[in-house]
Amino acid sequence: MRRLGTSFAAGARELVEGLWDGLWDGLWPQACWICGRAAGDGLACVAHALPDPTQSAGRPLCARCGAALAPDLPDGETCPDCRARPPAFRGLVALGDYAAEAGLREWILAFKHGGRRDLALPLGRFLAARVSPLVRAAEPEAPIVLVPVPLHPWRRMERGYDQAWLLARVLGECLDLPARRLLRRTRYTPPQGDPLAPERRANVRRAFAPARAARRLLDRGAAWLVDDVVTSGATADAFAAALCGAGAKHVAVACLARA
Ligand SMILES: [Zn+2]
Ligand SMILES: [Zn+2]
Repeated sequence: MRRLGTSFAAGARELVEGLWDGLWDGLWPQACWICGRAAGDGLACVAHALPDPTQSAGRPLCARCGAALAPDLPDGETCPDCRARPPAFRGLVALGDYAAEAGLREWILAFKHGGRRDLALPLGRFLAARVSPLVRAAEPEAPIVLVPVPLHPWRRMERGYDQAWLLARVLGECLDLPARRLLRRTRYTPPQGDPLAPERRANVRRAFAPARAARRLLDRGAAWLVDDVVTSGATADAFAAALCGAGAKHVAVACLARA
């Protein structure tokens, strides 16, 4: 009888909770963070769905820089550029491809150029789910620090916030890792086209410096560079080289999208 009473009480509670949830959803429906339309998962509508962070891209990508490979190559090969001139970072992880993933692109545009700093939270969580299985794979015992790709103070003022720093902080909270601004821009560099031109590399290398605390915090540990979109390996390469120069044993890159 007691058991019947317990199960009845549990059933009633479930019913009340179900009704309450229904009422709650009716009052405040689960809306897409980007457009406000109905979102089945409470995050995004169908048009703005983010790529599943637990799935691979479904197309072959360079193991080193994350660039798309010819479709007939196996995933995880190294691209010709990385073979000819290996970048200073060991690998690059992205949530998706900037050109191919329209939903993800809308998120990034809103986050970077639409004033939507609040998107750092869901995007950072998604990125954490993508990075989490890899972050301690190389050297489980090594200390790890997350380093945002620095924004020049002018751009920071223009935008009102530093999106890579916001991402790095959410990532740090999710993965229980410290996030530190260990790189700083020393001069403004306009966005540039040709990714691998030597002038571009030189230009990027002159445009920033490691922060004073970098050597103490990196000290033979691993660093993960955090960025929103990696358009070419050149910037990430230059930052990774700087972190290695300041004492990091190895560097990898985590970004929202590879362009
Ligand atoms: Zn939407
Ligand atoms: Zn590559």
